[in-house]
Formats: sequence, C-alpha cells, structure tokens
Amino acid sequence: MIAILGAMQEEITPILQMIGEYETTEFANNKFYTAKIGNNYVVVAYSKIGKVNSALTTSILVQKFGAKKLLFTGVAGSLNENLHIGDILYATSLVQHDLDITAFGHPHGFVPGIEIFSRTDQSLNELAQKVAQKQGIKLIGGVIATGDQFVCDKNKKEWIKNTFNADAVEMEGGSVAQVCTQLNVPFFMLRAISDEAGGGADVDFDEFLNSSANISAKFVIEMVKAL
Ligand code: SAH
Repeated sequence: MIAILGAMQEEITPILQMIGEYETTEFANNKFYTAKIGNNYVVVAYSKIGKVNSALTTSILVQKFGAKKLLFTGVAGSLNENLHIGDILYATSLVQHDLDITAFGHPHGFVPGIEIFSRTDQSLNELAQKVAQKQGIKLIGGVIATGDQFVCDKNKKEWIKNTFNADAVEMEGGSVAQVCTQLNVPFFMLRAISDEAGGGADVDFDEFLNSSANISAKFVIEMVKAL
C-alpha cells in the first residue's frame, strides 16, 4: 500500500480525478480514499493544514492502512531566488523552523530525541529525478522548513532561509517526516511553489494554489506509476 498525502483538498483533488474510481473510508473525522493505480494499491488523503493534523494523518495512513511508502504532494512558499511560482522541488531534508528551546542553549529546530533535519528516502528521490528527466521537467532537491505559520513577511522569510539554509517553507512536511522516520516508512516530499513567502504571498497563494497543486499532483502520480 502506497500513501499519497496532501494538506488541503485542492492538493489531492487532481489525484482523485486522475484515479476516477475509489472507495471512501471515514476515520478520525477525516476521509481516506483507496484505489489501484497500475499495479499499486494506494490510499489518498488530505490531512488539513499544520503539523498536528499532518502528523495524525500520517500515523493513520501507516498504522491503520498499512502504508509502506508515503508520497506527499502540495504547495509551498519559495525561499530560494531560483525557485519560482510553478516550479517543483523535493525535500532532501526537513526541519521545524518554529521548534524553539533555544532558551536552554539548544539550536533552533532541536528538541531532545530527534535530529534537527529529517532526511527523505534516497531511492524515492532518485526515482523522482528519473521521472523528471523522462518528462523534461526541471526538478531540484532542497531543504524544506516547516512551521505552524503561513509565512508572508520578508524578515521572517530571510530568517528561516538563513537559519536553516532552507529553500522552501510550508506547514506539514517536517511533522510528516518525523512520523515516517519513527515508524520506518520511506517517504518523499514534493512541493510546487505557490508564492514567495514575502509580502503579498497571501495574494499569490490564492491565485496559484490550484495550478501549482496540479503540477505537484501530476508528478506524484507519474512517480506512483513508476514504482
Ligand atoms: N488559504 C488557506 C490557508 C492556506 S495555509 C485557508 O484560508 O484556509 C498555506 C498552505 O500551503 C499550507 O498547507 C502550507 O503547507 C502551504 N504553504 C504555501 N505557501 C506557504 C507559505 N508561504 N508559508 C507557509 N506555508 C505555505
């Protein structure tokens, strides 16, 4: 079973449209859609926004639906001047930018018992590179920073970028990564850029959510077909 996860309805609607027929299971105040893509059984869901929702849903996908791999599809704000609206990137590692016990002398993003940066699965990342090459799509890997905030402020953006050497910012990846790491499930994290996380990011987000969500979803479907 392969899990395909998004945060918002808009991020999985293109997936469900491409699948066409699926079964719906309700659990924990959410809906989970199961179907077959090629030879693979898949379970698709959107978690709702933020770290708690995405951690809960990831745990359910693994423990209740038996997901053996997880692919995330969604949108993010760019922190990298070479990443523009509509471009895609995958996470090589993820960090929680709002995790802060620096008062005790620890670095940003650290609490005892975890690594600051969670690494994604190397073989899924390599598969993504192959799929991108085949389709002539430009795909880069980078650090994705996660926090329970929509970043639409130049100073906040610069701080996250400089503190973690991050390329994109969003609100779910870091928590999905931690759950998958603890449960030993290989995971892949793809994001299409919807905005540039500075002033006006909210306006860009509203304008580009659907088109960017579509770009990311299409790519993830191609990856599932290639698995
Ligand atoms: N418009 C929505 C809220 C969107 S929050 C509403 O009113 O309900 C932004 C979502 O897109 C999150 O799921 C997050 O992961 C991603 N995202 C895109 N750009 C972002 C940014 N600049 N900062 C943080 N998250 C961002």
